[in-house]
Amino acid sequence: MPTTNISEMITKPTLCPACGKKFDYAFCPEIIIPGGNKIKRKVLNRTMFFPKCPYCGEEFKIKPQCMYRDDNRREWFIVTDQPGDEIEKMLEIGDIHVNGIDANEDMVDFMKGLYKRRVVHDVDAFREKILLSDSNYDDRIIELMKFSLSGVLEKENHTRVYRIFLEETSGNLLVFTAIMGSRPPFEYVSVKTPAKVYYDFKNKYLDKLDRPEANEYISTDQKWAANSGLLAGTDPGFVIPI
Ligand SMILES: [Zn+2]
Repeated sequence: MPTTNISEMITKPTLCPACGKKFDYAFCPEIIIPGGNKIKRKVLNRTMFFPKCPYCGEEFKIKPQCMYRDDNRREWFIVTDQPGDEIEKMLEIGDIHVNGIDANEDMVDFMKGLYKRRVVHDVDAFREKILLSDSNYDDRIIELMKFSLSGVLEKENHTRVYRIFLEETSGNLLVFTAIMGSRPPFEYVSVKTPAKVYYDFKNKYLDKLDRPEANEYISTDQKWAANSGLLAGTDPGFVIPI
């Protein structure tokens, strides 16, 4: 069984990308649910990982190493700025060695087949995984929706979608933010989709997918959605933004 840990805040010097000054910033490298619900809120409402420089007021996002583990839902998310698929490979074989992250090998072994494991490389993607868990949405279905939605947006705006995230769920709406353009400055576009579309996608695709705990979903992102081939040949107008 995973050991019970406490989610603790640590303080680290952070460099402001705008003015170059250093300041102390507090964040949590390991969030464990149950127990870490207060810290989870900080991620969801963006008061953690998005520091504001006390000298010049610039807001930016840090590149954290953080693990999020929910022992009730059996989910384990890692955000790392380590490039490539090293962490994904480590999660598959159950041996984690990352700067700033310590995972007990027995624990990883235990979690392999039982926990939904995901690796992301950006705090927005990390926040999205936690938001989806919190709202009970399957992240694979959401990635398929985003992929389809990107097709619509690219057609309408005649430019490519650089990144797209679920921003919030409010009532019967899913609100996505698409970052559009091929290079900075990017344009931020907000798109609302009825939650019903999620259930349409779920009905259509869920039985084509394996268990969410399977190794093949460790990197569930837009690349995964494209490579799955599930949406190949479908009309990109399947998701209707309102
Ligand atoms: Zn600054």
